[in-house]
Amino acid sequence: MSNAVYPGSFDPVTYGHIDVIKRASHLFDTLTVSILNNGAKTPLFSVDERVNMLLDVCRDIPNVKVDSFSGLTAKYVQENHFDVIIRGLRAVTDFEYELQMAQTNRKLAPEADTVFLTTSLEYAYLSSTTVKEVACYGGDISKFVPKSIEEMIHQKYELRSKNGK
Ligand code: ADP
Repeated sequence: MSNAVYPGSFDPVTYGHIDVIKRASHLFDTLTVSILNNGAKTPLFSVDERVNMLLDVCRDIPNVKVDSFSGLTAKYVQENHFDVIIRGLRAVTDFEYELQMAQTNRKLAPEADTVFLTTSLEYAYLSSTTVKEVACYGGDISKFVPKSIEEMIHQKYELRSKNGK
């Protein structure tokens, strides 16, 4: 049995992430998509909101589970007996950071290997940050995220503007 984990912020999940999730789900027996609750970042969506988004977009993929964690990825990987860590690579700019992370995790959790999936070309430009920037100024994000996620993003920005944030 190979148990893979795909950790990330997913704030919000995009078609780029979904592409990686679908492809990884074919490669491993189980895939857990796990939201890292990172204290260093101020997310737009709470962990619960992001869990619900992921549950929604992954509901038709049978071997995918959704989880969340805080603290060290390597510790979470060991505690849950994952043997593969999935990360997506969009461009050379991702590479240096991802390589450093993979090597650090290998030192801390040598029983797990990091596997990189290169992004499909149509999503190479896509990041959660871009989606938030476009949505924040009322732009069309329908090519970046599924309809249900698009609605949640627009609702969030409407609420924030009502609350004067
Ligand atoms: P993190 O804060 O951990 O980088 P993200 O949610 O931004 O969290 O990304 C999680 C993983 O998904 C990272 O490995 C990132 O490189 C990858 N990723 C993000 N966007 C895309 C995309 N458009 N195509 C492929 N992989 C992506």
